[in-house]
Amino acid sequence: MNTLLQQDLNDFENILDKAKQQGIDFLNRLENIPTSNKNSIDPTRGLNELGLGSIEALKEFNERLAPLMVASAGPRYWGFVTGGSTPASIVGDWLASVYDQNTQAIKAQGGVSALIEFETIHLLLQLLQLPDSFLGGFVTGATMSNFTCLGVARQWFGKQFGKDFAKNGISEPINILTATPHSSSIKSLAMLGIGSNNFTTIKTIEGNREAIDVVDLENNIKSLDGKPFILISSAGTVNTADFDDFNAISKLKEKYNFWWHIDAAFGGFAAVSDKFNHFVDGWQGADSITIDCHKWLNVPYESAFYLINKQHASLQIETFQNSNAPYLGNPLENFNYLNVLPENSRRLRALPVWFSLLAYGKDGFKDIVENSVSMALHFGNELIEDGNFELMAPIRLNNVCFTLKGDHNQEKIAQFFTALNDRGKVFMTPTVYRNRKGIRASFVNWRTTENDIKIVIEEIKAVCLDLKI
Ligand SMILES: *Cc1c(COP(=O)(O)O)cnc(C)c1O
Repeated sequence: MNTLLQQDLNDFENILDKAKQQGIDFLNRLENIPTSNKNSIDPTRGLNELGLGSIEALKEFNERLAPLMVASAGPRYWGFVTGGSTPASIVGDWLASVYDQNTQAIKAQGGVSALIEFETIHLLLQLLQLPDSFLGGFVTGATMSNFTCLGVARQWFGKQFGKDFAKNGISEPINILTATPHSSSIKSLAMLGIGSNNFTTIKTIEGNREAIDVVDLENNIKSLDGKPFILISSAGTVNTADFDDFNAISKLKEKYNFWWHIDAAFGGFAAVSDKFNHFVDGWQGADSITIDCHKWLNVPYESAFYLINKQHASLQIETFQNSNAPYLGNPLENFNYLNVLPENSRRLRALPVWFSLLAYGKDGFKDIVENSVSMALHFGNELIEDGNFELMAPIRLNNVCFTLKGDHNQEKIAQFFTALNDRGKVFMTPTVYRNRKGIRASFVNWRTTENDIKIVIEEIKAVCLDLKI
């Protein structure tokens, strides 16, 4: 064995202790670590001939790389839709590395850790009050989940013409209907060879809404003259957290032949609270659903899952099977993840979620969701009270989409949020909503409290003063 590897092996406990201490120091300071920074490195470092050993590498990490880290897991990182990491999720994440399983099969082929993934999906279905009719698995994020679901939808579409697109390529134009898709679904259409231009945009409901207009949807369906199609619908749009009407879509499903996909990356968690689960009423009728765990479930990146109705298991295997390992027999026996999703080798990605669900239960996540929504409402009220701002849409759930009052201030938006973000106390992201520039704040982090809202309002007032707004 190489001497440095040997030395590290002998010193393993001390090394892990140091890493643990480092983690504790960071997490204890999280609230005071800036949400943005201007530090930088020259990323062209040469590789040494002789290694440093873990302890020296950790020293260099602390000197050069640690200063690049921002408090994205902290309570005031409201840009994009950014979750944090709870104690239990970190335990699961650390142990996933320690055990380092290749999570594939549920029956002995070496390891059987995929059973843990099965169990975790089963727990998630209970949390979200979804039936057991879905087969689920973990991927890196909602983008890959959308890709996986739409990949199986593509195969389904071919089957309607008696064709196997996975084997022979796409030989029929694929009809996609959608109203307010997330950019990652459109990116998935590009990756799947369907083409990112090849979708029909359905109107949204009149008034300040991003949800699909079901009447316009049905008119578009009729103009397809009985041809099959794929519907990409939304449970939680990123600007205004709007939801399509899933009961109305379920009714259409009785009349027309289509694959129904729901992107519920963060909005799916509305299901955990009886205050908000009406938003997802009827979603169990979907063919596939995308949900992120590194957002509202507050586990570390990279964690998301897909749910695909079990009746499509054969299509899923046709889409993702390894050609040298053709599947024989019943698709649910000898189940192996490497034949149902994009990756082959995978870490035990379910473990952070498993730990979180056991540690905090249904109540824990209901509390996180309800707290996030009340923080969003509280922040929205404070903005209105301030007088300089207006909400661009009502606050339906956890996202606040706002802007500076008055058209003359539209040109100041970029300057405003850059100045605010540069101060490092809060991070928000810009948006364009109904042709106007605005700012989004998304609340999903388990740590956020009213005191954070107070801090941010003070910051906003200071920036307005600076910029003479
Ligand atoms: C965040 C998000 C995505 C993309 O998720 P990643 O985890 O970044 O891949 C897709 N859809 C919606 C609605 C999202 O909010």
